[in-house]
Amino acid sequence: MKIAIDIDGVLADMMPVLNNFYNKKFGTSFSVGDYKYHDLEKTWGGSKEDAVRIVEEFFQSPDFSEILPIANSPKSVLNLSKKHELFLVTSRPQNIKQRTLEFLQNYFPKEIKKVIHTGQYVSPASSINKFDVCVQEKADVLIEDCLEIAIDCANHGLKTFLLDSSLNQLNREYSEGEIPKNLLRVKSWPEIVERLK
Ligand SMILES: [Mg+2]
Repeated sequence: MKIAIDIDGVLADMMPVLNNFYNKKFGTSFSVGDYKYHDLEKTWGGSKEDAVRIVEEFFQSPDFSEILPIANSPKSVLNLSKKHELFLVTSRPQNIKQRTLEFLQNYFPKEIKKVIHTGQYVSPASSINKFDVCVQEKADVLIEDCLEIAIDCANHGLKTFLLDSSLNQLNREYSEGEIPKNLLRVKSWPEIVERLK
């Protein structure tokens, strides 16, 4: 199978590092559990544009290189790469392609052949969406941590795993009726590997 994998929240545990960056900069004391939505301004306050500006600053900061992989992702991805073709699709912008590759070199050195940056996070209007990328690349499965993106892709018929860590409070605001049948909520990487056997 051809498997599309998101980066932040799926391979890269960005939130703890971004949260520390924010707290240091603004003297706040948010914890990872305070984020109930992927839209950061809903936690931080201010506008979408403010949040995007802060995240862009974070992307260029030394803190960014402190991001660690999500629990069990390196060995699970290595395992999947033996049977499946894997590629990454991320809403990170093009201008952090190099920093993204450095992270992948450190933790996923051989498994990933291709990374597609949609840039959705910083400029939603001008960018391509993940479902279109999955169609172009003929992906059979998507692994994603954002409920809205996962619902969109599953509604279009793509088999989608929503990686939903119990360590955070994201993706809790939904009704079961909204969840398409192609969308499967999973708690961990080992569960994904088990289900793709
Ligand atoms: Mg993500």
